[in-house]
Amino acid sequence: MSLNKVPGQEKVITIIKRAFEQNRVPHAFLFHGDEGVGKEYMAIELAKALICSESSVPGESCDQCSHCLRINKMTHPDVILLFPAPLSVKPDEEILVYKSLAENPYRRAALWANPTISIDRIRELKRKAAFKSFEGRGRVVIILDAHQMTPSAANSLLKILEEPPEKMNFILVTSNMSQMLDTIISRCQPIRFSLLGQETIEKMLVEREKVAPEKAQVVARIAFGNYQRACELLEENLPEQREFSVEILRSILKTDFDRLMLVESLVREKEKLHIKELLGLLLLWLRDALILSECKDKPNFSRSEVLKKLVNIDKLETLEKFIRAFQEVKYDEMIFEIENALDLMNRNVNLTLILLVLFDDMRKYLRRT
Ligand SMILES: [Zn+2]
Repeated sequence: MSLNKVPGQEKVITIIKRAFEQNRVPHAFLFHGDEGVGKEYMAIELAKALICSESSVPGESCDQCSHCLRINKMTHPDVILLFPAPLSVKPDEEILVYKSLAENPYRRAALWANPTISIDRIRELKRKAAFKSFEGRGRVVIILDAHQMTPSAANSLLKILEEPPEKMNFILVTSNMSQMLDTIISRCQPIRFSLLGQETIEKMLVEREKVAPEKAQVVARIAFGNYQRACELLEENLPEQREFSVEILRSILKTDFDRLMLVESLVREKEKLHIKELLGLLLLWLRDALILSECKDKPNFSRSEVLKKLVNIDKLETLEKFIRAFQEVKYDEMIFEIENALDLMNRNVNLTLILLVLFDDMRKYLRRT
């Protein structure tokens, strides 16, 4: 066990394990990829694999020795964490960040707005590097949000990466590869983390956060591969958002002016991420309506089997009303248009324009009977 504990990143695990098996572990890894996919978690597990004193299998850790136990709690003196923080950071604030990672590696405490990793931090690291490790098993430096290093900090780090101290491994973590200096990237082995699958997030929500399976299913579908976001969604008022997404459908049917007002207020009041989530909820609603309407034409379908497939099962009555009111809806086209809009939103096309075109297209497919 160890690296395998990190869900949904099998490819990454294979790459790292192979490096261990071939005895070619690079002195610096660079974990990159979207937020909330487990990069920090993997960094902690990798630190265990590097420091554990009991496991005889390369790339594994025992999860029981005193090293492993302390790394789990993020209290091991030879695991050094660097993260963006103001110069005035207090020791108890730093401890809070270590603790939050130990509790849930997908949700590090964010205590400051727009902090950076200053050159002082790297200088401090250099001073530490001049001494031997506390426990003789080697040291692991984990640099979180590595893209937040100031240019002078990055250049200073570069010198350590070029001539790494003995038995000191680096794991740089970033969700913003484009902001990393090429010179830093070239000194590390970059490993890309992919977005998590819906089923992976669903399972994690049930197992880690003890969420009811029905709720986990909804949340996993609108978290778009980001487990950190899924955890945040648990704390938000999801029923209200679901109501609102159906409200959007109603508004779309009104006049051109109403649609314009709707788009304007959405863009003005909500962050892009939240608009994406609303569209995600809308997709789920239409998908359910599609499933239900298809089974209406096929009496041989077992109703209980069909109901099992629904996400909005708690809104069955409203769904059925909707299907009765809109018997001519072209679900496939609507679903396609929303997916297309979500894709455009990822590519930074003008948000107002995307929504206006989307809602106008949807109006055509939403025919009331
Ligand atoms: Zn161990």
